[in-house]
Amino acid sequence: MRINSLLLEGFRNYRREEVSFHPACNVICGANAQGKTNLLEAIVCLSWGRSPRTRTDRELIGFDRESFVLQGEIHSRDRDFLSRIEAAAGRKKKITVNRVPVKNASELSQVLGTVFFRPEDLLLIREGAAARRRFLDSALCQLRPRYAEALSEYTRLHEHKTRILRDSEERPDLLDTLPEFNRRMAETGAVLIHYRARFARLLDRYAAAFHGQCAGGGETLSIRYTTVSTVTDPFADHGTLVSELLEHQRTHAAAELAVRQCLSGPHKDDLEVLINSVSARSFGSQGQTRTAALAMKLASREIHREIIGEYPVLLLDDVLSELDPKRQEFVLNRLGDGQVFITCCEEDRLGALLQGKVFYVQNGEIS
Ligand code: ATP
Ligand code: MG
Repeated sequence: MRINSLLLEGFRNYRREEVSFHPACNVICGANAQGKTNLLEAIVCLSWGRSPRTRTDRELIGFDRESFVLQGEIHSRDRDFLSRIEAAAGRKKKITVNRVPVKNASELSQVLGTVFFRPEDLLLIREGAAARRRFLDSALCQLRPRYAEALSEYTRLHEHKTRILRDSEERPDLLDTLPEFNRRMAETGAVLIHYRARFARLLDRYAAAFHGQCAGGGETLSIRYTTVSTVTDPFADHGTLVSELLEHQRTHAAAELAVRQCLSGPHKDDLEVLINSVSARSFGSQGQTRTAALAMKLASREIHREIIGEYPVLLLDDVLSELDPKRQEFVLNRLGDGQVFITCCEEDRLGALLQGKVFYVQNGEIS
């Protein structure tokens, strides 16, 4: 899949720009604060339906504007698509594919899949579990529409249950609804576990291979999915997972009431990353954990190709400048046939390294 052209109007510091991209490699050059990341952000928006950088669409609208439009011509599954997002302050944003309104944003990622890679992703292993869950969620939401649905339902239930527990002292009557919340959280939670376990198994396979190639023969990487403790086998059938989740809720019900927080469920899942069989998070060196993070990110791109049949678009924002020459070369050699966007500052000479098109961005204008 690839994005052939992009129109930005009133998006961040872009007044009105239309650009055509190269099917393979696009290098975006420019000094700081000119709009390189904003351009990648626009492409991610056309894939995720929202920005990877902010929760509110308001921030994406140009300072002196009331609205923005993003429109991309995309080629995927041997067809051409026109994806469009229109957002205005105080109104619900309009998303269309081929001029037909979409029901939810995950329909955009069925058309355009992306892997967005930023320097902070190199800390994926050192960070808390939430970062690794975001990594899982962002990949799976694009690959499995049913996962995206279950995740948004689960998040909604979790927030609601958290409010009930929090307010339970003043409003004990609300607690009557808890069993129903628990039942629905177990049902949707089981769907999350089903997909996460399978994704983690693929991740383990692909990331280990990448890590071995990048780090040299001496190191082995493995990735294990960890979830609710009563789940003995995350590959078990739906009914088994649901009853194991309900069992965990039962044993934690008193504690949840005492601390007035939701303690039970896959919202605490994690990926345990091991290098040579010991926890990389606790014992890995800076270089080892960065290589492992790199391997995980590249692996998610391979998994996308395995499931969908095409590489997603890879967006590398300032990543290469963060890597030593050996790892830079490793990333560049693993790009394969997919489309890639790479940002860099003017002094870099990436343009010469790669075949493709070089764009210069200055103050929201692309040349
Ligand atoms: P760096 O090399 O430092 O990462 P960059 O080229 O990636 O720089 P961006 O993050 O793309 O820079 O753009 C930053 C610029 O966009 C800033 O000058 C910022 O003020 C401007 N900007 C951000 N949001 C908006 C907005 N909503 N409206 C107008 N301008 C904005
Ligand atoms: Mg930037």
